[in-house]
Amino acid sequence: MIDDKCFMIDVPPTSSLSFQMIQHSPELHGSDEVVYFQFESLLREQGLMHAVFGRHGGASDPPFSSLNTSYSTGDDADRVRRNLSTVMKVMGGENLLYMNQIHGREVLVLHGKVPSHFRQGAQADAVITDRKNLILMVKQADCQGILFYDPTTRVIAAAHCGWRGNVLNILGSVVERMVLEFGCSRARLIAAIGPSLGPCCAEFIGYPKIFPRSFRSSMVRENYFDLWRISRLQLLEAGLVEENIEVAGVCTVCRTDLFFSYRAEKTTGRFATAIMLT
Ligand SMILES: [Zn+2]
Repeated sequence: MIDDKCFMIDVPPTSSLSFQMIQHSPELHGSDEVVYFQFESLLREQGLMHAVFGRHGGASDPPFSSLNTSYSTGDDADRVRRNLSTVMKVMGGENLLYMNQIHGREVLVLHGKVPSHFRQGAQADAVITDRKNLILMVKQADCQGILFYDPTTRVIAAAHCGWRGNVLNILGSVVERMVLEFGCSRARLIAAIGPSLGPCCAEFIGYPKIFPRSFRSSMVRENYFDLWRISRLQLLEAGLVEENIEVAGVCTVCRTDLFFSYRAEKTTGRFATAIMLT
């Protein structure tokens, strides 16, 4: 059991409910402890495990130290494998599904049995399933990892959304597919937006060329955008209700002590955001 080894430590103020940090015992491996975070809104639900992993407690050396979950960073493959096995141990699942994320809007939908080729290499940025004991994982370093859960149909989803994902409105696509394929309830659907590029650091000098005009309302000062707000607005537009959207409110660029950040570090790892029906 993880519960008796968990304790709260100080994290920056969040913009909504309490985004909690859990420190796992060091029994898995590595010199430092596995640290993961959980959303209050998802913790309240039964039959669900979720975690936003920090960068600690893994097997990788700098600049990927240490819980890097991506093979495409230049890290040693064997160490990434060990890190993925750590993620699986903490999640308590035997099947882990992750994607070759391409900053697109492709959404995988997995009813029932998962084809073996989906385990690795499927090109997509989001995945939806009603399958139990299947860990859905997205990897990020500044992009948003967003977890979804519909308690009425017991369907989960995980999405990777950077600014390109916002431009393509992949979050809207995820919600549409959850409703169409599984009959999910927009009004009950919970969405949780993880640590990612915050309004403090989200500078886009070339924004007139890359962002639609509608994003201007989320410009917090010249060239700086609140991508958390943009995601929240896209989820509201897709039919979610305000109180079911939780934003961690933690900026990865500001908190490289806890997370990987591409903007802050360039060559670095990717941290994992994962969810599973139990
Ligand atoms: Zn910041």
